[in-house]
Amino acid sequence: MFAPLLDRIRGKLSHWANSLLSYAGKITLINSVIFGLPNFWGSSVLLPKGVVKKIQKMCKDFLWGIDAGQRRFVFKSWDSFCLPRKEGGVGIKEILSWNKSQLLIWIRKLVIDSPTIWVKWIKAYVLKGVDIWHFQLTSAYSWAWSSLIDCRDSLIQVTGSSSAAQNLLAQPDFKGIAYDLFRHKGSVFSQHKTLGDTLIYPKHAVIGILAVQNKLPTIDNLCRRGLVLINRCVLCKQNSESSDHLFFDCPFSANVWRVVAVWLRITVVTRWRRIFSWFKKYNKGNGCGKSLRRCALVCTIYHIWRERNKRIFQDVSSEPSTLIWRIKYLVFLRVRGNASAYGF
Ligand SMILES: [Zn+2]
Repeated sequence: MFAPLLDRIRGKLSHWANSLLSYAGKITLINSVIFGLPNFWGSSVLLPKGVVKKIQKMCKDFLWGIDAGQRRFVFKSWDSFCLPRKEGGVGIKEILSWNKSQLLIWIRKLVIDSPTIWVKWIKAYVLKGVDIWHFQLTSAYSWAWSSLIDCRDSLIQVTGSSSAAQNLLAQPDFKGIAYDLFRHKGSVFSQHKTLGDTLIYPKHAVIGILAVQNKLPTIDNLCRRGLVLINRCVLCKQNSESSDHLFFDCPFSANVWRVVAVWLRITVVTRWRRIFSWFKKYNKGNGCGKSLRRCALVCTIYHIWRERNKRIFQDVSSEPSTLIWRIKYLVFLRVRGNASAYGF
């Protein structure tokens, strides 16, 4: 029954698999493909766990790539990877939680006694005078109806009672609230204000969030998984590559930071902790200068990572001055009206 759905998702993702999309581009595509294509399926029946697992696998393979049948590398937990950005994830929706929140629309129709033929039919031939919250499911009912009752039970479980569930369904924005109820939760990512500024380019924000949490596939991370044997920084060709070395200690990156720091009138950054304590202490709020600094900070992280990848995968290298020019140019585009005030 779900083979056409899986085929369509596979077809869409494989169409883009060999393109040079960034992580952020791939994440955007996953969100649009997964939560666009199966809209009909996802809002009609509860997707079986096996189908959800297959869709997740396709997403992981698409995101991280496949080498000789094996995924290049994996994160510890897909659930933590899917969390919203403010909780340290990259904002991919969880399929099952999203599916459940979509199905609630049908239960809501029954709860608010929506004037539709479907509601009249269900009340007359299925519920037969029984309240939806007290309806007992038997094996005689269809899969679609069983899905709704499973979803009802999940809602009662997460809200605590049928009356709390009923109150939630009465709210106009219940679908957003319901998704949050069903999904996995993470602790609030303390740096999300700095990394989530509206001026920051989305793809820069994704790399920034992963970099801060040491979740990028740096060579030391790949060595730990046994995927790479020799650890050598591609930027300086002298030291081992770790997140701290790549983004701060490497002479190449230090050269970039030195100029960016003078431009932004901030102290030279040497570690994530110092960056965020500086932002916390001196750079609260959302004024243009503050947003510009956040935008430039994350833009610099992104371009160091991009330079590293271009050297590894395309055998193309740039000087620090080229990166600095590009960082200034991109930040300038974001804050065009106020750029002259910041010495661009
Ligand atoms: Zn280096």
